[in-house]
Amino acid sequence: MNARRGLLLIISSPSGAGKSTLSRRLMEWDPTIRFSVSATTRPPRPGEVDGRDYRFLDREEFQRMVAAGEMLEHAEVFGHFYGSPRKPVEEAMAEGRDTLFDIDWQGGQQIRNSALGKDVVSIFILPPSIAELERRLRARGQDSEEVIAGRMAKSQAEISHWAEYDYVLVNDDLDETAEKLKTIVAAERMRRDRQPWLNEFVRGLNREFEERK
Ligand code: ADP
Ligand code: 5GP
Repeated sequence: MNARRGLLLIISSPSGAGKSTLSRRLMEWDPTIRFSVSATTRPPRPGEVDGRDYRFLDREEFQRMVAAGEMLEHAEVFGHFYGSPRKPVEEAMAEGRDTLFDIDWQGGQQIRNSALGKDVVSIFILPPSIAELERRLRARGQDSEEVIAGRMAKSQAEISHWAEYDYVLVNDDLDETAEKLKTIVAAERMRRDRQPWLNEFVRGLNREFEERK
């Protein structure tokens, strides 16, 4: 009875602000949310698993998927290609399940402007300060100084797109931000236009009125 349209949850932030951590929290809260595993041409970081964190592809295979229309969106970020494969998203939507995208502003714009735009809920994560952003990038301990410097240099450009998003969260206290994220998802799921079953439900209520006359 209560089938609803699946959401496309887009989370963007400058690298290191905490979107992967918050995404994990959201999926622990609701394991039915499907993570959109992006394809990328960047090399895996220690601990990253192919098919779970990313699909690690060479440039040729990536370009083939783009040319074949198999990417919902794609962009170049930090000198590597990243893209969201279309098929798993279509499958999730057909099942009324939500999909979570950890993608940059370019990908966010492309999906928002696509035919699926009405199903998008976009959230931008800001760091409490730039000093803290840099501290978190180092704390992650997975990138070289050169890579960290490159990511910091791109942060200002990423942050400049904050106002294109439906929601903006300052990720100061992790638990508090995770709670806010869950609240956003819970409320967005209850929007009238995401619950097409309500039409039939209210018709039923009206039939009940008629029967009482
Ligand atoms: P992103 O996915 O945006 O690049 P991560 O989720 O990998 O960022 O977070 C970067 C680092 O900051 C990680 O070590 C993570 O544990 C830490 N972190 C995330 N959110 C917070 C927070 N609110 N307070 C302190 N540290 C955080
Ligand atoms: P990282 O290399 O740190 O995993 O990701 C670098 C940046 O690329 C992040 O801002 C991340 O959100 C973005 N990104 C990851 N996957 C995709 C994708 O499929 N499409 C787009 N447009 N950006 C992505």
